[in-house]
Amino acid sequence: MTTTRIPGFYRLSTKERFDMVTKDRGLTEDEVIYLSGREALSMDLADSMIENVVGQIGIPVGIASNFKINGKDTFIPMATEEPSVVAAASNAAKATYENGGFFTSMSGTIMRGQIQVLDVADPFAARAKIFEHKNEILQHCNEKDPTLVSLGGGAKDLEVNIIPTTNHQMLVIHLIVDTKDAMGANAVNTMAESVTPIIESITGGRVLLRIISNLADLRLVRARAVFSAEAFGGKEIIENIVSAFEFADFDPYRAATHNKGIMNGISAVVLATGNDTRAVEAGAHAYASRSGLYKSLTKWEINADGDLAGSIELPMAVGIVGGATKTHPVAQASLKIMGIKSAEELAGCIAAAGLAQNAAALRALSAEGIQRGHMSLHARNLAVMAGAKKSEIDVIVAQAIVEKDLRYDRILEITKTIQRGEIVGSNK
Ligand code: NAD
Repeated sequence: MTTTRIPGFYRLSTKERFDMVTKDRGLTEDEVIYLSGREALSMDLADSMIENVVGQIGIPVGIASNFKINGKDTFIPMATEEPSVVAAASNAAKATYENGGFFTSMSGTIMRGQIQVLDVADPFAARAKIFEHKNEILQHCNEKDPTLVSLGGGAKDLEVNIIPTTNHQMLVIHLIVDTKDAMGANAVNTMAESVTPIIESITGGRVLLRIISNLADLRLVRARAVFSAEAFGGKEIIENIVSAFEFADFDPYRAATHNKGIMNGISAVVLATGNDTRAVEAGAHAYASRSGLYKSLTKWEINADGDLAGSIELPMAVGIVGGATKTHPVAQASLKIMGIKSAEELAGCIAAAGLAQNAAALRALSAEGIQRGHMSLHARNLAVMAGAKKSEIDVIVAQAIVEKDLRYDRILEITKTIQRGEIVGSNK
């Protein structure tokens, strides 16, 4: 097993990093070509993925290092346009590595498909009748996906809710489907659509919507890690982190930003593996609101040893088959780099990335503030925006940091000065 604790990983060239994380991972030639950015996706492949294709947008894939997850060193591919995200995750993972890293578990790979039934005269009696026909309904669903059933998945159970709305009561049936290594939206939607005639005949009502729920509360992933006080800045900082967490847990204005930081880590891995970022994001935010108050997705405590214990729990509907996970060569390369063999394992890695991201953000906010760590990356972005060439960027960033000035107009001025061949001073 390759260690992910590689001092100076960030100082290596992109080629050196690429070789290190892809060595012996069995990447195909296509996966190497597309991950390395040597070629964009073929327009034919792009055109087969979505509609009306005219082009593509390249998002960098970075590797978060220092992750040990359930005892296994794991490189984490992250696709993101936001500076500092990969560095922050790697730094936080480093602080927990010696304590064993991250430990994860999952409640299962079960999704809910919803079937809305209107115009039922006697919803309570209809509910009872649906349960009388449960086996017939499940069997009908399972006939639609013999592959899933052969893998031990498929429709397993039913729930029936009567929802009072403004005008009338409606019946909402939940198909409980184990989608195994697939995210499962297509699989579940197909099943839900196929049982319409049976449901209408049993209830005497009219079926309207048939669609998966992204509030995947039967597919919860959990991760935890311990950050020793010493490695994480001392007793005062970790106490401040707990207070910062409590702020988020009781104030939705703060919770929105706190959870956005968590999603910086989560969505980046979801995207790198070709999964549906919106499905995971919708599930996460709906789950954070389940008590009626929008809360933190993580919990932070000081344990009996005086160290910082972090944990996270959220729905994680991701797959390693289906959707773009199989068709996009970079998604396949990402799974190989992580050495992932199941959707459950992938979900654990994603949760670990979210927890690490939150640890890093809380640490920065509770100590020096978020902007210091962001400074040089932010300056780089501004320099590129100002039209700096690659060879000019380091000088511009160094000057901006000396001046402690990250205003765009000043960076533009520095860039122009350098491009005129003049020497930059701090005559701002
Ligand atoms: P899919 O239909 O492409 O693949 C799933 C199928 O693969 C299963 O039904 C099964 O027959 C087969 N399969 C083969 N090996 C399997 C294994 N080991 N485990 C499980 N199934 C296996 O994809 P999907 O996962 O059903 O749907 C995912 C896609 O649906 C994503 O692209 C997502 O963006 C999209 N989508 C999402 C929503 C939503 O989230 N609300 C709605 C519609 C579509």
